[in-house]
Amino acid sequence: MADNKLYDILGVNRNASVNEIKKQYRKLAKTYHPDKNQDQTEAEKFKEISYAYEVLSDPNKKEVYDRYGLKGLQEGGGGGGFSSAEDIFSQMFGGGGLFGGLGGFGGMGGGRRRRRGEDTIHPLKVSLEDLYNGKVSKLQLSRNVLCKACDGLGGKPGSRVKCVGCKGQGMKVHLRQLGPGMLQQMQKQCDDCGGQGEVVNERDRCRTCNGKRVTNETKILEVNVDKGMRDEQKVTFRGEGDQQPDIETGDVIIILQQKPHEKFQRNGNDLFLPLTISLTEALCGFAYTLKHLDGRLILIRSKPGEVIVPGAVKGVKGEGMPIYRNPFEKGNLYIKFNVEFPENHFINEAQLKQFEAILPQRINAIDIDLNDEHTEEVDLHDYDPSNDRSNGRSEAYDSDDDGDGARGPGGIQCASH
Ligand SMILES: [Zn+2]
Ligand SMILES: [Zn+2]
Repeated sequence: MADNKLYDILGVNRNASVNEIKKQYRKLAKTYHPDKNQDQTEAEKFKEISYAYEVLSDPNKKEVYDRYGLKGLQEGGGGGGFSSAEDIFSQMFGGGGLFGGLGGFGGMGGGRRRRRGEDTIHPLKVSLEDLYNGKVSKLQLSRNVLCKACDGLGGKPGSRVKCVGCKGQGMKVHLRQLGPGMLQQMQKQCDDCGGQGEVVNERDRCRTCNGKRVTNETKILEVNVDKGMRDEQKVTFRGEGDQQPDIETGDVIIILQQKPHEKFQRNGNDLFLPLTISLTEALCGFAYTLKHLDGRLILIRSKPGEVIVPGAVKGVKGEGMPIYRNPFEKGNLYIKFNVEFPENHFINEAQLKQFEAILPQRINAIDIDLNDEHTEEVDLHDYDPSNDRSNGRSEAYDSDDDGDGARGPGGIQCASH
């Protein structure tokens, strides 16, 4: 049976390209990002989206998932110890992560046999400058830690009894909407016992954690954004996830998200810079001082006599991004030239004649015999994609419009005489 859950979460189909998956993830991440939404279900949704993306954007994980579903990920991931495919989901999404959500894709397996706590995934927005120069970002996050007052027992030793709310199961059943028309029966971790299936009698209860065995702690993580790191690169803090009794603590995974840059585009270790110059600069030479990502000013100029054609791409060695873990090496900078031509009638006819005299020779002859009966002069107008509709495919859109053919294409009044 094909498992489609992760595709459904992202709202893409199974053969979506990496780009489509990425695009859809970004769109959803924007809507459900916990910075915007304090709402619990939306925070939960964001975790699901992040996890679905984490798997589907990784070719190896995706292949495992496509073949064997969530269960395959669990087995292949080396985590082990889960009793069903759903367990890994409740693992990933259950149990109060960074955003404090408690719901999850619980299964019939029972949450108490989990051995490793879920990873907490958090996006971190960085600028291209940050990725060029490197920086330390401080990130404050709150997490659950084992209560120090009772050593995570919740009360005096031996005072634990079965939870009444969930009859010792640690889970309660509820319905959950996965998508339009898709309801699924889910198990949610029991709030009364925090999924433990056991509680401590009120009189024996630890006062610090109120029997919950964990307390909340605010922690500052210092994320080292190293020179040359990429968009979507992960920084993992081992064992910094939520602590839970009897479970190995999961990781905090920070995913870098590069903000778009106003000047540069990045491709691997290379930087791309679009640059507009005038026709004069293209023909007579140009000089441009570029403020680089580290604040240096670098002078870029043409060689004497060099002509820059529109669309030309020129490279500067070693002025691209620093290479990750080898930051003294850098990629290249590529400049793509756009040449701005002068306006119509920028000089008069007499000046044009002078101009022509110094410009290179024409390719096409201008003295054409208009009395030749085989030659018909036609009108040349500026192409406008929204108005110019030729007899091709766009005609199909107004098949109900039975034009008599005398009209110009797309309603354009032909200015012929
Ligand atoms: Zn319970
Ligand atoms: Zn305690």
